[in-house]
Amino acid sequence: MSQTQELAGRVALVTGATSGIGRAVAISLAGAGARVAVNYRDAKDGRQRADEVVAEIVGAGGQAVPVLGDVSREDEVGQMFAEVRSQLGELDILVNNAGIEQPAPIQDMTLAQWQAVIDVNLTGQFLCARAAARAYLARWPEPPPKGASAGKILFISSVHEVIPWAFQANYAASKGGVSLLMRSLAQELAPRKIRVNSIAPGAIRTPINHAAWGTSQAMAELLKLIPYDRIGEPEDIGRAAVWLASDASDYVTGATLFVDGGMTLYPEFRGAG
Ligand code: NAP
Repeated sequence: MSQTQELAGRVALVTGATSGIGRAVAISLAGAGARVAVNYRDAKDGRQRADEVVAEIVGAGGQAVPVLGDVSREDEVGQMFAEVRSQLGELDILVNNAGIEQPAPIQDMTLAQWQAVIDVNLTGQFLCARAAARAYLARWPEPPPKGASAGKILFISSVHEVIPWAFQANYAASKGGVSLLMRSLAQELAPRKIRVNSIAPGAIRTPINHAAWGTSQAMAELLKLIPYDRIGEPEDIGRAAVWLASDASDYVTGATLFVDGGMTLYPEFRGAG
């Protein structure tokens, strides 16, 4: 557990928290003292994995509950937010993390592949952000105390919100969309003291990109893209999420924090070009 407990008394919802980055963010937020709703999509296999994340948090002295919901379905998002409220109380922190990839050459990409990725990565983040904004705005006219926000929304975007990605046009389009969705909401909600930010991970060691790091040859190719010369770990994102979710970052809104080991720094030029 974190020594500082900077999120003590806060309630957080992390979408797609059964795996990879979402799992690590849920554990990090709980370690900083938040009560965490661990979202899962699939009532069978997903529930078991959510229970394991909850057990890990509780075993470390934290508080967490599993909450069911497919972020791409409006009705399920509504039910999920109601469940978080009834189980943990008023929400303070949303981490919009759930995401998928469905790569294909553009000439072969089906409408179903395009739509599936947009539905989860962009529409899902919109649906959850809207639900969080509604919950935060319902607290007014009582303003938050100085130095604290009326709520936080944190998007997990990607370096592919700025780096084009061949064979992943649907994914890159979804993350480019998240970039301006985040900044538009930050601008709109700042007067109501709601902070909205993104984390853009680089290559993080999770199941979604196993092919990029699963063999020594793939890892060697990957490291050519990372000036800091190591793959990211889910905990790298967890620590960044704690800071952006805490009042330590109270003057930060509309920002994308790249947590990428320098992947967006034009790595081909590191030898002076
Ligand atoms: P991951 O290990 O595959 O985890 C994705 C999570 O999202 C899983 O828990 C998955 O649940 C859940 N999910 C998928 N569709 C969902 C839906 N409709 N509703 C609710 N949950 C859903 O991938 P990850 O690497 O942790 O990715 C997390 C986020 O980070 C994504 O937004 C991804 O784009 C972003 N990101 C990852 C990297 C990286 O290098 N890993 C880099 C940049 C950005 P199921 O397993 O049950 O489907």
